[in-house]
Amino acid sequence: MRYYMPTMIYEGSNIVFEQENLFHELGKKALIVTGKSSAKICGALDDVCGILDKFNIEYNIFNSVKANPPIEQTVEGAELGEGADYVIAIGGGSPMDTAKGIAILLKHGRDNYIEKIFGKHNYDAVPVVAIPTTTGTGSEVTPYSVFTDDKLKTKLSMPRRIFPRYAFIDLKYFKTMPLAVRNTTIMDAFSHSIESIINVRSNHYSELYAFKALNLFRKHKDDLMNDNISDEALRDFIHASTYAGVAIAQTGTSLPHALGYPVTYQFGLPHGMANATFMAEFLRVSPKDLVQKVLDATGFTTEEEFAAWLKKFIALTEEKPPIKEEYLEDYAKLISSQEEKLKSHPIKLSLDDIMEMYRNSLL
Ligand code: NAP
Ligand code: FE
Repeated sequence: MRYYMPTMIYEGSNIVFEQENLFHELGKKALIVTGKSSAKICGALDDVCGILDKFNIEYNIFNSVKANPPIEQTVEGAELGEGADYVIAIGGGSPMDTAKGIAILLKHGRDNYIEKIFGKHNYDAVPVVAIPTTTGTGSEVTPYSVFTDDKLKTKLSMPRRIFPRYAFIDLKYFKTMPLAVRNTTIMDAFSHSIESIINVRSNHYSELYAFKALNLFRKHKDDLMNDNISDEALRDFIHASTYAGVAIAQTGTSLPHALGYPVTYQFGLPHGMANATFMAEFLRVSPKDLVQKVLDATGFTTEEEFAAWLKKFIALTEEKPPIKEEYLEDYAKLISSQEEKLKSHPIKLSLDDIMEMYRNSLL
């Protein structure tokens, strides 16, 4: 087994100001990468710009990362950030993932960008600083990036391993999340924990983090259902998200992520809810000793109770996508582009098994 976590995590109120020298040490020019408006609204962008101004660090702001970012956004960002010594990502998984891709292109140039991001040779990157603002992806501590590929009509994980150099976590940046973003991202962290536990790459260290994240979910799952999230609960969900990130940094994710990507591509079903949609079926096809451990950690007595809770919770924020039987074969075929996720499952599944998981979850 192995355990590797090179990201330095700093957490606390006003943490970026406390650690402002680290920005100074990283270089003279930075690129800030954000989504459309949340980095400004939550206050993190102004905090970071204030620090960069104070140290006379030159910077550009690439503020147009879309949810489920198309791979081409890495090129746009690298163009704007030409010459930057490092990248600062502020936001959810979409800006953090895009920043990792941009960081590779800043170091190695923008030509042949598909090869640099998805190809066989292992390209490194300029340093990435990650400031998360959603309670879900854990991208601030994972080496992964997920991009939308319009040719394949799905999402793909970048095989490069780009861990952020620093993660800065401050509760106040998460407080502006709308309910839908909060709920879907909590489901992403929940899925990461379970997919890390039911995984051939799971080990003692990844389990520590994954089970701890599930225990925090258990503590607040009624509050979550009742939309009664105190600061203490939000803090616990932020921890759960980062813990689950540490866990998947060791193991990777598994079938619910793989099954969710084409549905997110076709219907825009948010990533966390897409994972949650397949979670009950994931337990159905998994080894029962592991399933029992997951049920115990999450505070459910049976798989049926687990499934009913998730169904009710998903329905609070998302309408069921209008999926038809004839789409399922194409989705199932795309699973072959997610070979690593299939291999991570302890039981070998056929294309028919995958079709059945899709049918039972979506129709
Ligand atoms: P996201 O796509 O980054 O953001 C979703 C929405 O939330 C955006 O509209 C964003 O607004 C808004 N938002 C973010 N933080 C906010 C805040 N504090 N206040 C108000 N609004 C806020 O969402 P995500 O679920 O965090 O990331 C999903 C992506 O991460 C997917 O592509 C997924 O595949 C990937 N992912 C990566 C990993 C990994 O290990 N790298 C793991 C799982 C998933 P703005 O556009 O204005 O910012
Ligand atoms: Fe995820």
